[in-house]
Amino acid sequence: MAARPAPYLDDLNPAQRQAVETLDGPVLMLAGAGTGKTKALTTRIAHLMNTGRAQPNEILAVTFTNKAAREMKTRVGRHVGGVIEGMPWLGTFHSLCNRLLRRHAELVDLKSNFTILDMDDQLRLLKQIVRAHNIDEKRWPPRMLAGIIDTWKNRGWTWDKLPASEQGAFNHRGAELYEEYQKRLITLNAVDFGDLLLHVVTIFQTYPDVLAKYQRWFKYILVDEYQDTNVAQYLWLRLLAQGHKNICCVGDDDQSIYGWRGAEVGNILKFEKDFPGATVIRLEQNYRSTEHILAAASGVIASNADRLGKTLWTAAEGGEKVRLIGHWDGDEEARWIGEEIESYQRGTRGLDPIGLNGQAILVRASFQMRAFEDRFLTLGMPYRVIGGPRFYERLEIRDAMAYFRVVISEEDDLAFERIINTPKRGLGDKALATINGFARDNGVSMMDAARTVVADGAIKGKGGKNLGELIRNLDRWRAIMAWSDKPGPHSDDVIDLDEPIVARPTGVETPLSHIELAQMILDESGYTAHWQNDKTPEAPGRLENLKELVRALEEFENLQGFLEHVALVMSNDTEDAAEKVTIMTLHAAKGLEFPVIFLPGWEDGLFPSQRSMDENGLKGLEEERRLAYVGITRAERHCTISFVANRMTYGQWNSAMPSRFIDELPAEHVDILTPPGLYGGGFGAAATASPREQAMQGSDLMDKAAKADVYSSPGWARMQRNTSRRAVRAPAEARNMTIDVTATPAFELGERVFHQKFGYGTVETLEGDKLTIAFEKAGQKKVVASYLTTADD
Ligand code: ATP
Ligand code: MG
Repeated sequence: MAARPAPYLDDLNPAQRQAVETLDGPVLMLAGAGTGKTKALTTRIAHLMNTGRAQPNEILAVTFTNKAAREMKTRVGRHVGGVIEGMPWLGTFHSLCNRLLRRHAELVDLKSNFTILDMDDQLRLLKQIVRAHNIDEKRWPPRMLAGIIDTWKNRGWTWDKLPASEQGAFNHRGAELYEEYQKRLITLNAVDFGDLLLHVVTIFQTYPDVLAKYQRWFKYILVDEYQDTNVAQYLWLRLLAQGHKNICCVGDDDQSIYGWRGAEVGNILKFEKDFPGATVIRLEQNYRSTEHILAAASGVIASNADRLGKTLWTAAEGGEKVRLIGHWDGDEEARWIGEEIESYQRGTRGLDPIGLNGQAILVRASFQMRAFEDRFLTLGMPYRVIGGPRFYERLEIRDAMAYFRVVISEEDDLAFERIINTPKRGLGDKALATINGFARDNGVSMMDAARTVVADGAIKGKGGKNLGELIRNLDRWRAIMAWSDKPGPHSDDVIDLDEPIVARPTGVETPLSHIELAQMILDESGYTAHWQNDKTPEAPGRLENLKELVRALEEFENLQGFLEHVALVMSNDTEDAAEKVTIMTLHAAKGLEFPVIFLPGWEDGLFPSQRSMDENGLKGLEEERRLAYVGITRAERHCTISFVANRMTYGQWNSAMPSRFIDELPAEHVDILTPPGLYGGGFGAAATASPREQAMQGSDLMDKAAKADVYSSPGWARMQRNTSRRAVRAPAEARNMTIDVTATPAFELGERVFHQKFGYGTVETLEGDKLTIAFEKAGQKKVVASYLTTADD
């Protein structure tokens, strides 16, 4: 077939073009942030179609999020001059494996309507297993077991292939519990996230004919964000790619940020070994960021020893330097960032206005989000939170979905347990134990057990009657679903038909859409009424959420499709065009770009995280540094880094030190800002030597003195004195001093104190960490001790 003209190739530089046009054999594109790897990959897909090398459904493309997959589809469509009808095999590892597993579920003893468990369900199941084994949950928490099993799955180890070295895990019980967990999952007709991949790998390894079929089918394989694949994903890719060997992976070792989840940068190095003769392409021009931003990011990542190393340059000279600012606490930080967002939006300082969609706040830990949400609610500034507690994690939504799950799969005991007494049906612990016992003894699902137990009259009174009704309802909803899907005549009308038909259940005249069915389930189960009768302040919100849930169903073909979507979408997958500021975690921001980026919370202990600093060796710290690199390189034009002197974490005030990464920012690319009012202007003005310069003068990065310039304010000095007076600790710990609010108060009645916001005052009452102070200007107020310093100077 003659290739159509390919104007899309003109947008590429020579290296990218090579990546797009080298269609035969393995290709590895290894390049820094913003160099157009994803763009080249997308263009390559368009080129494959345009040159007739492959049909859309013969291309397997792995993206990091479903959103990225959708974007890719749109862009490919643009290149080939039309909408791409079918690219069924473009998605995340999870969504692709889900698709494959539904086709071949029976090969691993599942049914194709299996349920995908989320973390919560997974933990509940593990808890049951740990308890049944009389293991001390305090010493051996199920959460820990979940982590261990996850790691095993990420490494591609099924329970029967667990290496001997792992036998000691979880007090020597891990292996046995893993086996039991997997067997329970099979009886529940359920999988967890790791299983999606592992089951498919098992199928490929056990059934060579199945594997061969897909090896032939997928003519081209493409993988974005390759640096974050784990061993299981790597195995999966390698198996599939052995057919045509046309695999193209793109990645950046400096952006490997999922090591904690089993990702192995080593996969990049293995690539050339596993695919000998691979074409390795390096891209060096960054098209995303301005000079200062790129230089700042490069400066930080240069401190990592473990790198493949690369050169990066940008043609976008000048622009604004990376801005650095310190604040008193997280609320102050959020307030300031809120104002900055508005000013970017208005286009002050001679800048072009940048809408809210072009601005993002990237946090290290999700608890940081609260301060921003509070602030933006006050300001009435629209925002979207990505990666925070999600809609689908809410109680009422989980309950509603549990109903749907049982209707779809009767074996789903976890969902059945959730709804059996929600709303209250008068079933006590004894009734539940009876059902559970029967299910276990007879190897049947709980729903099946309940059916028998109720029929036998083993559950007396109201509880038994209500449970009977629930079961009849569930059976009826299931029948309605089946019939609506494939509406046959009423059973009475059937005389003789060869084909098995689904009979029309009584009580419905016309097939119901899944939306109508969902509404029916919520209403007839009494769940809607349960919240209508609830007088707590949350109830109206919950009812609203249930409505939203039913609305959300409209986008899906059926209930199962919806449940799959909920289980599989990454939290940053929501489609939403409205103008809003984005608040998200650094991890979720991978691959994205925004004109304006705010990076708050650059404090030791938060970023880098305490855990990475406590670890032996530099591995954890280097991963945090890569995360910093990912953060800065998301910015196109403006990047602001901030830190605070006092951070509330887990309900405790900690006095914080600026992140060590701040010292690694090259001074010539950084502007140190003076926070408004707080420090009386002394803050930035005293900063004669930048953190970087100090570092070059040989001052210890770990040393507080290295940061003395940014903390030259009177408030800071007072706080430091105060902190050290209160908690005398070893120097290493003192870097991240915890003010123990439960300790004996350091203040005395009648003592004169200073408060950052309210000024001078006298202590009137003491109550743990709360003090009543008569302020000289602000009057009497109750304040937290950690905001106070003695005013003895
Ligand atoms: P990351 O490592 O962050 O995922 P990436 O290497 O995938 O980055 P892309 O997102 O593909 O980079 O590209 C970054 C930006 O540069 C995008 O806005 C893209 O459109 C633009 N870009 C890429 N290549 C070119 C090019 N040859 N000419 C102009 N702009 C380009
Ligand atoms: Mg990319």
